[in-house]
Amino acid sequence: MHANLIAGDWVAGTDASPNINPSDTRDVVGLYAHANRAQAEDAVAAAHAAQPRWAAFTPQQRADALDRVGSEIIARQAELADLLAREEGKALPDARGEVLRAGHIFKFFAGEALRVGGELLASTRPGMSVEITREPVGVVGIITPWNFPLAIPAWKIAPALACGNAVVFKPAELVPACAWALAEMLSRAGLPPGTFNLVMGRGREVGQVLLDDPRVHAITFTGSEATGRKVAQAAVSRPGAMPKFQLEMGGKNPLVVLDDADLDVAVECAINGAFYATGQRCTASSRLIVTDGIHDRFVAAMTARMAALTVGDARATGTVIGPVVDATQLAQDMAYIALGRSEGGHLAFGGEAMAELSGQPGFYLQPTLFTHTLNHMRINREEIFGPVACVIRVGDANEALAVANDTPYGLSAGVVTTSLREATRFKRELQAGMVMVNAPTAGVDAHAPFGGRKASSFGPREQGRYAAEFFTTVKTSYVQA
Ligand code: ADP
Repeated sequence: MHANLIAGDWVAGTDASPNINPSDTRDVVGLYAHANRAQAEDAVAAAHAAQPRWAAFTPQQRADALDRVGSEIIARQAELADLLAREEGKALPDARGEVLRAGHIFKFFAGEALRVGGELLASTRPGMSVEITREPVGVVGIITPWNFPLAIPAWKIAPALACGNAVVFKPAELVPACAWALAEMLSRAGLPPGTFNLVMGRGREVGQVLLDDPRVHAITFTGSEATGRKVAQAAVSRPGAMPKFQLEMGGKNPLVVLDDADLDVAVECAINGAFYATGQRCTASSRLIVTDGIHDRFVAAMTARMAALTVGDARATGTVIGPVVDATQLAQDMAYIALGRSEGGHLAFGGEAMAELSGQPGFYLQPTLFTHTLNHMRINREEIFGPVACVIRVGDANEALAVANDTPYGLSAGVVTTSLREATRFKRELQAGMVMVNAPTAGVDAHAPFGGRKASSFGPREQGRYAAEFFTTVKTSYVQA
């Protein structure tokens, strides 16, 4: 049994759930405790008590602790990637990349701990100086989804700690193993007990405590739009001080392919963006907006390339696309595939789930491509979160831009073109937090700001130096000489 980490102690839960391998549902990764409400409250109390001690550590001490975690993650890359692939179903090469990224994030924020600074302004009043400093926000509640079991926790936990905050971390129910491994490393990193707490369990129970408890000063959330809105509602309904909150939610990211695109680049961007990580990325390209002159060649090349993508056990050599994460997500993907057909989309490739592969029962789904779709169809409006992409044919670049922006979301958007003029125009005009030119919509650098516009995000950007906006609070001091 893997326990919760509360106030520096490993605490058994009131119940536990088995962690199932989606590549082989007979394989149980382990048993992971569920915290109850009282235990989650204990974790908040512990964080509240520990935070001033952690904030009083020198920046170098905080940097050293985070750097140790980063080094250990990188040293254990193969083992952690295997665990990640086993519990989440991400193909091993992608899982290895995610582990490395998590390690690099801890190392980046180790450096940031030393760079928390301020500003000195000249005052409009004689003899006065204006100092702008950054202080920790206090206790940060971290609620994460299952699709990046190490990287998303890393990019919230590392900056929170670097800035001197204490943390209560509630991972997604489906991926407790990576969360537990990270917590175990943090438990040995030299933080005062209670600075970092892990509470596993259900969102409505354990997550809700983080939303309601007045000792939690900030909540950073990544997950579905529906839950994100609940987080926001809970935050603004809290009596007294409202917590700071930051939300990363859905996407319906367009990849525009223009007539002058290099076809190979376009196909690689689309294959990677739509299907890698089984399409389970909020930055996945689910809308492929293709102009008339290249449309037929693009669709032919896509389907040929898709036929060569190996679907299989996430940990098997040669697998490019692992299984869908669980039965519920697979049912959602299949419902959208049925909907796409009934809305008039033409199923150009895939669409079949496989209950078994090489004798292993798992949640396998072929990469799926719809053509002849229109932007107003529900399959082009709603986030599917699976290996399903839709081609939308358009007349020219102007129409492509209009269709790309005609969506409630605005996380990532891409364009494939050899024209500098078009690349520049799309980079300026695409209404998204991240724009990719001749690159997949998914796949970002660990030190650059991450986040979206419209219904995709709320609050300051995550990652890189921009993370400090959320994890610190600004103080302006006026000093008369
Ligand atoms: P996903 O299924 O993509 O992970 P969800 O929005 O369902 O998206 O879940 C994201 C995270 O939010 C998970 O850790 C989940 O447990 C948590 N969560 C779900 N409901 C609530 C809630 N009412 N309060 C707080 N956290 C919640």
